[in-house]
Amino acid sequence: MLIASLWLLVFIGGSLVLTYQRVPLFLATLAYLIYLFAYQTLGAGPDWLKLLYWVVFFVVAVPVNVPTLRRAWISKPLLDVFRRIMPEMSDTEAAALEAGTVWWDGELFSGRPNWHRLLNTPVPKISAEEQAFLDGEVEELCGMLDEWKITHEWCDLPPEAWDYLKKKGFFAMIIPKRYGGREFSALANSEVLAKIATRSATCASIVAVPNSLGPAELLLRYGTEEQKDHYLPRLADGTDVPCFALTGPHAGSDAASIQDSGVVCKGTWQGKEIVGMRLNWDKRYITLAPVATVLGLAFRLYDPDHLIGTMEDYGITCALIPPQLPGITIGRRHFPLNLPFQNGPTQGRDVFVPLDFIIGGTKMAGQGWRMLMECLGAGRAISLPSNTTGASRLGIYATGAYARIRKQFRLPIARFDGIDEVLGRMGGTLYAMEAVRTMTAGAIDQGEAPAVCAAISKLHVTELARTVGNDAMDVHGGKGIQLGPRNYLGRGYQSIPIAITVEGANILTRNLMIYGQGAIRCHPYVLKEMRAAANEDHIQALADFDDALFRHIGLALGNAARAIWMALTYARLTHVPVTTPTERYYQHINRFSAAFVLASDAAMLTLGGALKKKEKLSARLGDMLSYMYIASAVLKRYEDQNRPAEDLPLVEWACRDALYRLQESMHAFLRNFPNRPVAWLLRALIFPRGRMYSAPSDELGHEIAELISMPGPARDRLTRNTYTGDNTGAVGQYAEALELAARLEPVERKIREAEKAGKLKVLRGVSTLGAAEEAGIISGQEARQLARLEELTAGIIAVDDFDPGELGTHPFKKA
Ligand SMILES: Cc1cc2nc3c(=O)[nH]c(=O)nc-3n(C[C@H](O)[C@H](O)[C@H](O)COP(=O)(O)OP(=O)(O)OC[C@H]3O[C@@H](n4cnc5c(N)ncnc54)[C@H](O)[C@@H]3O)c2cc1C
Repeated sequence: MLIASLWLLVFIGGSLVLTYQRVPLFLATLAYLIYLFAYQTLGAGPDWLKLLYWVVFFVVAVPVNVPTLRRAWISKPLLDVFRRIMPEMSDTEAAALEAGTVWWDGELFSGRPNWHRLLNTPVPKISAEEQAFLDGEVEELCGMLDEWKITHEWCDLPPEAWDYLKKKGFFAMIIPKRYGGREFSALANSEVLAKIATRSATCASIVAVPNSLGPAELLLRYGTEEQKDHYLPRLADGTDVPCFALTGPHAGSDAASIQDSGVVCKGTWQGKEIVGMRLNWDKRYITLAPVATVLGLAFRLYDPDHLIGTMEDYGITCALIPPQLPGITIGRRHFPLNLPFQNGPTQGRDVFVPLDFIIGGTKMAGQGWRMLMECLGAGRAISLPSNTTGASRLGIYATGAYARIRKQFRLPIARFDGIDEVLGRMGGTLYAMEAVRTMTAGAIDQGEAPAVCAAISKLHVTELARTVGNDAMDVHGGKGIQLGPRNYLGRGYQSIPIAITVEGANILTRNLMIYGQGAIRCHPYVLKEMRAAANEDHIQALADFDDALFRHIGLALGNAARAIWMALTYARLTHVPVTTPTERYYQHINRFSAAFVLASDAAMLTLGGALKKKEKLSARLGDMLSYMYIASAVLKRYEDQNRPAEDLPLVEWACRDALYRLQESMHAFLRNFPNRPVAWLLRALIFPRGRMYSAPSDELGHEIAELISMPGPARDRLTRNTYTGDNTGAVGQYAEALELAARLEPVERKIREAEKAGKLKVLRGVSTLGAAEEAGIISGQEARQLARLEELTAGIIAVDDFDPGELGTHPFKKA
C-alpha cells in the first residue's frame, strides 16, 4: 500500500512539475514513458493494472503527438465547436480590437509575467526643456488662473489666459517642432495637465482637448502632407482652435451608431462645380466647439451614385470643416457641472464641402472608426488620468496639512483615528494613481500604444480620484462645502464625474472594454484561434487552430498547476527578480496571474460568446487584470525612484489594497459563476487554503497618515508639481502653516499638560498664549510662533459668504 502510494505521489508530483514548467508536449510524453517503464520493472501491482496503464498511455499519447491524427480527431471537432461559440464581432469591434499594441497587459495575461520586461522599461523621465516649461510657463499660467472667478463670475478663462495658452504652445504639446509645436513626450504632456489641474480643473480640461484625440493627432497620423502643412502650424501657434465632434443625441457610448451623414454628390464650391459631400449632423457635448475654428467631424459617408468608387456605404469617416460655412450652427454652450470649459452642441444642414476635407483624403473614406480607435488606444492614458491625478494631488497636499492645522476637541484632527484612516487611504491611493499614470505614459513614450493599459489607466485613475475627492471633502468638512474664492476643493470635486464620463464612460469601460478587449488581445492564444477560425482556407485554418489550441491547453494546464501550487505555498517559492521588502508582492502577482488566466480560460470555454453579455462576470475579470496592473505599476515606480525608504508604507499600502481587491473580485467571480461544478473546481485550485490575503493594516495606514500630514520627503515627492504660488490663498500658506504646526506640536502639548496639572488657568476669551508665556510654560519666541500659526490657521479655515445679491445671475425679484 505504501509503495503504491509512493508511485502515485511521484506521478502526481511529476505531472505538477511538468505542467508548472510548461514542458513541451513531446518531452512530457517522454517523461511519462520513462515513468511507465520504471513502474513496469520496479512497481508493485497486478499485471492487468500495468497493462491498463500502457493502454491509457497509448490512447492519449499517440493522438496528441501525431499531428495528422490530432488534427482529425481532436482539433477539427473542437474547431467546429469553437466556430459556433465564438463571439460575433462587428466591424467596429474588430477595428477596436486591432487598435494599439499589447504590452505589460500581455505578460499579466500569460500566467507567468516576465518581470524583466517591466523593470527594464526605461524610467519615465521628462527632459530639461519640458521641466523648464513646467517651472516657467505652466507656473506663470497657473498664476493667471482664479478658478472662482473663472467658474462663477466669468464662466470662461480670462482673455489673457487664452492668449497665453495659444502663444506659449499649450495647445501644441503633441505637434512636432517642425510645424512649430512643442513636441513634448506623453509624460510631459501628462505632467503639464496634472499641474494645471492642481490650480484649475476648467483650464486643464481646455488644454487637454487639443492635445488628445482630435484634429492635430488625426492629421499627424493620417493627414495628407498638404493638410499637415496647412493646419499644423496654425494649430501650433493658436491661430486655429480645434474640436472633435463624434457624440450625438442618439450616439453616446455606442458612438459607432452615429446617424450623421455625408453624401458624395456634385455641388458648387468657390464658384466651381466639383464632386464633394453634402453633410448633415447633430452633435452635442463637444469640447471647445463654441470657440473652435476647425471642426473635426465624424460621420458616415455614402456614395449612392458611385462617384468615387463601387461602394455605397463607406462607413465612418473623419473630416475637418471650417465652422463658418453656411448651414453650420455652432457657438451655443453646455454648462458641464459648473465647470465652464467651452463645451457645446453643433448642427450642420446640407453643408457642401470638397472631398479633400476628409482627413487623409478620399483614400481614407470609411477609415474613421479605425483612426479614432488607434488614437484613443494610447490617448486614453493621458488627459483624464492626468487631470484627475492633478486634482487629487492638490487634495492631498491640502488635506494632509489641513488635518494637522485644523483642531477640534483641542487636538489636530489628524490625531483622530477616523481621520487617520482616511488620510492613510488618500496617500496610498494617490501613490497608485501616480504610478499608473506615469508607467502608462512612459510606455507610450517607448513607442507602445497599449490600448488595454490605457483603458485601465482611464478607468481606475478616475475612479480612484473619486475616492480621494470624497475623502478630501470629508476631512475638510464645511470648509470643502462652502463655495467661494477660498474653496480650493469644490470645483475639482465637481470635475471628477466629467472625467469619469468622457472618452468611454467608466461603467462601459469596466464592463465591456478592459476584459472584452483584453481577453482577446492580450491572451497569448485566443486571437490566434479566432483568426484561424475565421480563415476560409480550411487546411491552413485547421493547422493554425491546432497549433494555437494545443499551446492554449498547455497554458491552461500550466496555470492550473501554478495556481494551486502557489496558493498552497502562499507563493513563497516562486522566483522573482527582486529581494527587496517588496519581493512578496511580486510573488503574489505571479500567483494571481496564473489564477486569473485559469479563471479566464474557464469562463471563455464554458460561456463562449455569452461571456460578452455577462458583463458582471467579465468586469470582475477585467478588475483582476487591472489590479495586477496597478500593483505592478506601484512596484515599478518604487524601483524607478531608487526605492526611497520613506515611501515604503505607500508602496505596501497600494500593493496590498490592489491585491486584496483582486482576491475579492476573484471570490465574487467564483460565487457568481453560473457553471457551479466548474466554479467549485476553480475554487479548489485557486483558494485551496481559503482567502488568505488581507487588506492594508491600520498600522500601515497610520504610517501614511503621518507621512502626508507632516512635512517631509515622502509628502514632497507625492505632491510635487502642485501649484502653490498663490500667497494670498490657503494653498499658498499651507507650507508655512504645516511646518509651524508640526514644529509646535510639543509646545502645544506643554500648554495642555500645564492646564491639566492646574499650572495654567485659561479663561474663555483670553489668549492662552499670553497666559502660558507669563507662567513661563512657553518662551516668548514660542508664543510668537504660535500666534503666527493661529493667524495662518484663521485664514486657512475661513470660508466665504456673500451678499444675497451677489449670488445668482438673475436673482428673483420680490413683487
Ligand atoms: C463634458 C463632456 C465633454 C465631452 N467632450 C466630447 C468631445 O469633445 N467630443 C465628443 O465627440 N464627445 C464628447 N463627449 C461625449 C462623451 O464621450 C460621452 O458623453 C460618452 O461617450 C458617454 O455617452 P453618453 O453621455 O451619451 O452616455 P450613454 O451612452 O447614454 O451611457 C449612459 C450609461 O450607460 C453606460 N453604458 C452604455 N453602454 C453600456 C454597455 N454596453 N455596458 C455597460 N454600460 C453601458 C455608460 O457607461 C453610462 O454609464 C463629452 C461629454 C461630456 C459630458
